[in-house]
Amino acid sequence: MKVLVTGGTGYIGSHTVVELLNLGHDVVIVDNLYNSQLDVLDKILKISNSKDLKFYEADCKDYEKLDEIFKLEKFDSIIHFAGYKAVGESVLKPLMYYDNNLNTTITLARLAEKYQIKNFIFSSSATVYGEQQSPLNENLELKTTSNPYGETKKMSERILSDFSKNNKDMHITLLRYFNPIGAHESGLIGEKPQGTPNNLMPYVTQVAKGIREKLFVFGNDYDTVDGTGVRDYIHVVDLAKGHIAALLNAHKGLNFYNLGSGIGTSVLELIQTFEKVNEIKVPFEIVDRRPGDLATVYADASKAKKELRWETKKTLEDMVKDSWFFEKNL
Ligand code: NAD
Ligand code: UDP
Repeated sequence: MKVLVTGGTGYIGSHTVVELLNLGHDVVIVDNLYNSQLDVLDKILKISNSKDLKFYEADCKDYEKLDEIFKLEKFDSIIHFAGYKAVGESVLKPLMYYDNNLNTTITLARLAEKYQIKNFIFSSSATVYGEQQSPLNENLELKTTSNPYGETKKMSERILSDFSKNNKDMHITLLRYFNPIGAHESGLIGEKPQGTPNNLMPYVTQVAKGIREKLFVFGNDYDTVDGTGVRDYIHVVDLAKGHIAALLNAHKGLNFYNLGSGIGTSVLELIQTFEKVNEIKVPFEIVDRRPGDLATVYADASKAKKELRWETKKTLEDMVKDSWFFEKNL
């Protein structure tokens, strides 16, 4: 199968490209390198022992440029990762987020229609559920999102849902990710945030490495096992494999799936596991809650298990080990 992977040099995209190459698919990456580097390509090739990987440096909002690529390449499938993802930044620069995250999706959908591409997989997020009781299942009505980033995901889902009604033969799959962490076990690819990390795991690894003095734990007065926030962490390699399962088991119309482990882990549990597995201390201080954070978010992961025949395999121990190995190699 010939697969276009937008955002394929990014964190989740690069791991997904590895899995696609491992299975012998033809992969073409389109990325504008806004949040990734070209050297990822060599690392992907090294891990997957492949020779063939095509890359175009292009903006996925650029219809004319992408049209040329589509004409030339004749894709069977699109996996669309390209987008901005920093929640805090989206509050400060909402127009930039709406412009990029919506217009990339619209451009790709227009071209998918023009070239009659069979499969379209979109990176959505658990954030589209808004504030409601976990476990979150796909039948829940989506509630108000708390920031522009989340709204771009919800709006993109709506756009693709309307689009699918006029393209009934297409297989459109929305994947709602929970909290991806970890890295490829080779230590060659992983998450490399620019500046101060917003997410928990890259912050933890930077503290362990001594780049930052201590971790700030946002609140210990939630109604959870130890008062700290609970999330559903998923190893990025499991998440990448979820895309393969979605591609191979896609069916006509619009389908959406949670990709999570179904297990809730608190911030303190994650720190303790990190310290134990990696035998390294992570100094931390409890501070106020972060505005907008929910106490508990985890998936009901049963739909993907049943329909995509996919479930997570890797443990929290694997996630903290691989995250640390990647950080040490940087
Ligand atoms: P990432 O920033 O590592 O990768 C995204 C890639 O898209 C980058 O390489 C960036 O350069 C590229 N890109 C951005 N705008 C582009 C444009 N206009 N044209 C071409 N390329 C562009 O992010 P990631 O963590 O790999 O996330 C991938 C997708 O999954 C994003 O859509 C993100 O919103 C979504 N998602 C991520 C998480 C998470 O926690 N990482 C959770 C839920 C959903
Ligand atoms: N968190 C924290 N300190 C940090 C970053 C995150 O205590 O420096 C907590 C946060 O409050 C949440 C959990 O870790 O309970 C996961 O946060 P992250 O930003 O990684 O994911 P999200 O909140 O988007 O699910």
